[in-house]
Amino acid sequence: MTVYSGPVFEMAVNQFNVIANHLEIPFDERDRILMPKRAVTVSCPIHRDDGSVAVFEGYRVQHHLTMGPTKGGTRFAPSVDIGEVAALAIWMSWKCALVGLPYGGAKGGVNVDLSTISRRELESLSRRYMQEMIPFVGPHTDVMAPDMGTNEQVMAWFMDTYSMYQGQTVTEIVTGKPVSNGGTLGRREATGRGVAHLSKRVMKELNIDPHKATAVIQGFGNVGSYAALELYQFGLKVTAVSDHTGALHDANGLDIPALIRHASTHGSIAGFSNQLAFDPAEVLTLPCTVLVPAALERVIDAKTAENLKCRILAEGANGPTTPEADLVLDKRRDEIFVIPDILCNSGGVVVSYFEWVQDLQQLFWEEEEVTRREYQILNRAFDQMLARAGTDKISHRTAAMAIGVEKVRAAKNTRGLFP
Ligand code: GLU
Repeated sequence: MTVYSGPVFEMAVNQFNVIANHLEIPFDERDRILMPKRAVTVSCPIHRDDGSVAVFEGYRVQHHLTMGPTKGGTRFAPSVDIGEVAALAIWMSWKCALVGLPYGGAKGGVNVDLSTISRRELESLSRRYMQEMIPFVGPHTDVMAPDMGTNEQVMAWFMDTYSMYQGQTVTEIVTGKPVSNGGTLGRREATGRGVAHLSKRVMKELNIDPHKATAVIQGFGNVGSYAALELYQFGLKVTAVSDHTGALHDANGLDIPALIRHASTHGSIAGFSNQLAFDPAEVLTLPCTVLVPAALERVIDAKTAENLKCRILAEGANGPTTPEADLVLDKRRDEIFVIPDILCNSGGVVVSYFEWVQDLQQLFWEEEEVTRREYQILNRAFDQMLARAGTDKISHRTAAMAIGVEKVRAAKNTRGLFP
């Protein structure tokens, strides 16, 4: 019996079983590695603008505390439930271990439709969520960060709320803060930059000329927009972009800097151009060199995987590809180069780690230093993934996850079982 349920949690379990079978982990050892250590559900009451009281359900799941504090984002979205948050926490663990960060994974979230609340209500909700979490988080226990539906402003409110209770400023309680509040240069761009950096590396390995290459981006939030911008600046034509409001398509390439300006003033890509409007359901299967799913999980199922026409699948989102789709992609290994999510989008948490380190030391780095070190870590993990996939004759995802799971398992086994 477990409280965790739902398709996203099942997906994380299925993926783990593939890895555990590959690594031949004994059955009686598996639950200790897979099942989350702690999960908290909180009720967050706030005053609405009309004077009424509304209560939102919030969650935080800390997957394992074996290698240091837990680390992961906080999601504000209507899809959020305990199963989804647990799956995302588990993926954070494999991600942090793969790239060598001294963290276990965590994730949090509030079930809320942001289109139905005002900015003042969002501030109240953010502050109340953090206040409810105070007994369970801390700079050496669990460090939050942005995820879907949260941003630098929400992190500033989290940090302020925690600090007011401590009686002193505790910047290291969250990452992804504004630079003016102890954030690091390069964090805002880090995830998208990492996605683009790894895509460029693969293009180089495959001898693809960036000026003859195209990119398609699903999701135009923090990750999708910076990935698009970096690829655009590298010479690729970004032929399609979609978000929750619709999609745009231009075979000659979209003006990404203009689209980013539009999205930052209007909150979405809606209204940018009527002429270029396109069916968002068709975006993933457009022919392109680099396809970046940078929105929700489980958008590529087996049928979509059969129909993908990209050369490189750069997974900016967490969990965009189902295990059934992975079976299809396994057969299409020579046609489609997969950069799996836990590697592809790990630039975000890597630079979050740099932010935490800088906050703890009160010593801040130049942006070049941040980005250089980010790429160094991504390159090392990429090389390890490729080498492992080659020696074990397994997919990139299995290789990346096997490296992550193996490190968590080793840390648990050498520490031993207390008491
Ligand atoms: N939410 C991001 C992720 O899924 C970032 C987490 C972090 O920076 O701690 O990787």
